[in-house]
Amino acid sequence: MPLRASLIRSLARHRWASIAAAALWVAAAALFVHPATRAEFTAGSRLTWPALVALVAGLGVVAAVAGRSLTPAIRRRLPGILTILSAPAFVLVEGSGGLRSPALAVAGLLLMGVTATLGYRAGAIAAGASVLVIAVADSLLGRAPEVAAVMSATAMLGAITVGPLWYARQIARDVEADRQRMRRVQGFLQRRPTPRGSTAVASDLRGEALSEREAAIGMVHLHIASRYLRDIRDSLCADEVIYWRLAEEDERMEPAAWSTVSPDEPALFPEREGVPLVQWAGAQRMAVAAPLQHGGVVVAGPVEEGDRLFGALSVTVTGGAALPDEELKSWVRRHGTHLGTLLGLLEVRHLTARRAADVRAIIDAAERIQGSVVVDTLARSVCETSLQVTSASRSAFVAWDAASGTGVVRSASASFGLREGFALGSESLVARACRHDQLFVFEDAHRASLRTAVFADSEPRRQIGSLAVIPLRRDHSVLGAIVIEGDAPRQIIDREVDTVRLLARVASLSLRTAEEFSRQHDLARRDALTGLANRRTFDERLSTLLAESDRFQRPVALLLADLDHFKRVNDEHGHDAGDAVLRHAARVLGGALRSDIDLCARYGGEEMAILLPQTDLSGAREVAERLRTLLSAQPVRVGVAEIDVTASFGVAAYPVSTSSRDTLFPAADRALYEAKRGGRNCVKTADPNIAETTT
Ligand code: GH3
Ligand code: MG
Ligand code: MG
Repeated sequence: MPLRASLIRSLARHRWASIAAAALWVAAAALFVHPATRAEFTAGSRLTWPALVALVAGLGVVAAVAGRSLTPAIRRRLPGILTILSAPAFVLVEGSGGLRSPALAVAGLLLMGVTATLGYRAGAIAAGASVLVIAVADSLLGRAPEVAAVMSATAMLGAITVGPLWYARQIARDVEADRQRMRRVQGFLQRRPTPRGSTAVASDLRGEALSEREAAIGMVHLHIASRYLRDIRDSLCADEVIYWRLAEEDERMEPAAWSTVSPDEPALFPEREGVPLVQWAGAQRMAVAAPLQHGGVVVAGPVEEGDRLFGALSVTVTGGAALPDEELKSWVRRHGTHLGTLLGLLEVRHLTARRAADVRAIIDAAERIQGSVVVDTLARSVCETSLQVTSASRSAFVAWDAASGTGVVRSASASFGLREGFALGSESLVARACRHDQLFVFEDAHRASLRTAVFADSEPRRQIGSLAVIPLRRDHSVLGAIVIEGDAPRQIIDREVDTVRLLARVASLSLRTAEEFSRQHDLARRDALTGLANRRTFDERLSTLLAESDRFQRPVALLLADLDHFKRVNDEHGHDAGDAVLRHAARVLGGALRSDIDLCARYGGEEMAILLPQTDLSGAREVAERLRTLLSAQPVRVGVAEIDVTASFGVAAYPVSTSSRDTLFPAADRALYEAKRGGRNCVKTADPNIAETTT
């Protein structure tokens, strides 16, 4: 901006200060020509102390300005105040020695104000003019201006007027450049590997990671937009170009990116006149120009792509505009359309990058779930993965049996305080979700004031801020549900729930495989006719128990039971009746044992083997006797026939009956043989120390 224009603008802006300063200068001049005062001035010593005090005060004010401890209101008025103070400062300088006065520095500090508002050139001119005025005054007062004094005064005043500000601005620019570099570096650090490589992990889907990633991408886009705005500014010889984003919630325009280096806010935009202009340009989708009060012009136009309005573009020209208003308007329209296209493309790029990263992270999560072939492991892995991909505090996996309308917790985070196998209440939220195949999402569970229990009325009390229940379905029937909970409202966000829904689909497929696997596994270990464990399971369990017995010095007992005259049953009542008797015997024997501890297996045709861990010989004999009595007391009804069933039992225990692990089974078998020989329907023990007894 030309110096004259700046001066006129500054004078106009500080109208009252300028009038006050002019009045004071007239008073100073009057004082200056008054003979008595002149005599005092000539002596040049009277005002030395006030000059020193003013110097200290001036330094204080400069320090306050530099330290930003002045209120914005005072800072705004500072140029005016400095202008007014220029007259008393002149009196102070003359009264304390003229060109040699220490108050010359005070004048320098005041002139810093000129530099700050009007630039270096104006500051330097003002400093030169001030030396000239003081030199003339000196000569009028009879102080001969020496060349050395004029030179040193010029140097000092010039240095103070221009030097500190120039230095401070260099420093500030360096600091700002560093800050921007740091921010860029941080932006890139935050970018994590997701947008680039294929190393996405499940936890990249968490809300926190998502917003970090969005922020990093947003940074890059802002950078691209700002660069484009700078190009627009330079091509139009303007001072500042701003992109205003349309805030969708209240349709207001907010500055989003600007050409100026200042990071906090646009530096030159005339808010009062400009904001309505920008608002209007956006609403009417037209370019519009308005002259500024102190010279210059603001032009605003819409930023659009097809029908879509992104916001507005404003171009501020503070000095004389290089182009006529009409031409500026047409350029603003064109740039607005280009910027709209650029923003549209950036948005597409952003979405594509986001989707690619999401897909990679979901594949990672799905792989974790698919790795499990056992239902329990699958349940655990679904819980863990749900926690990884969301911001939830805890998660649970519930299995639902659509036929009976019941469900149980298969796996749950420890913080739920729910044990595995916890049954769902029939009116609980999860039961309702499963029964009606309904997704429940409560972003703010407090506000929704949940009245029903999530799992059952007896569930542990806890703080629920947000909650989602996601049913797992396959072929139109619900298999279970994933439950995620957050302590705080809105802890779980929509996009996270979408991710868990996707996981639920993967999990339901894996659940089918896991169930099939577990069925096959079970088949391979059970006897098809009786449902008892088969010989393979028995053999495995026997060797585990014997090893444990050795390690922990605990006894283990073995009962062998063989149905008496079973061949006769087959012969007299048929093979089917024989099968029914076998199933009956299996039910009676299996049902009378400690579930989860003892093992009853079908060892051969009509021979059962029973393992009793931590049971000694006398205990085992009692059990065998109990089983024998139970069996003989319940005849089997097959059709019209009633068949009596009895069995003979051989009992042995390790390490009492036999010191070698390999001879436990033969010992029990021998005892069984004894029982058969002893008349059947009896118990025989293989105790070498005690005389073998019958019951
Ligand atoms: P003992 O009192 O000496 O044990 O006489 P038993 O008739 O019970 O003994 P034996 O070993 O002579 O006969 C066992 C019979 O069990 C032979 C076989 O046909 C029958 N059997 C084995 N497995 C099955 C089965 O799965 N179903 C049926 N119905 N019969 C079976
Ligand atoms: Mg038999
Ligand atoms: Mg037999």
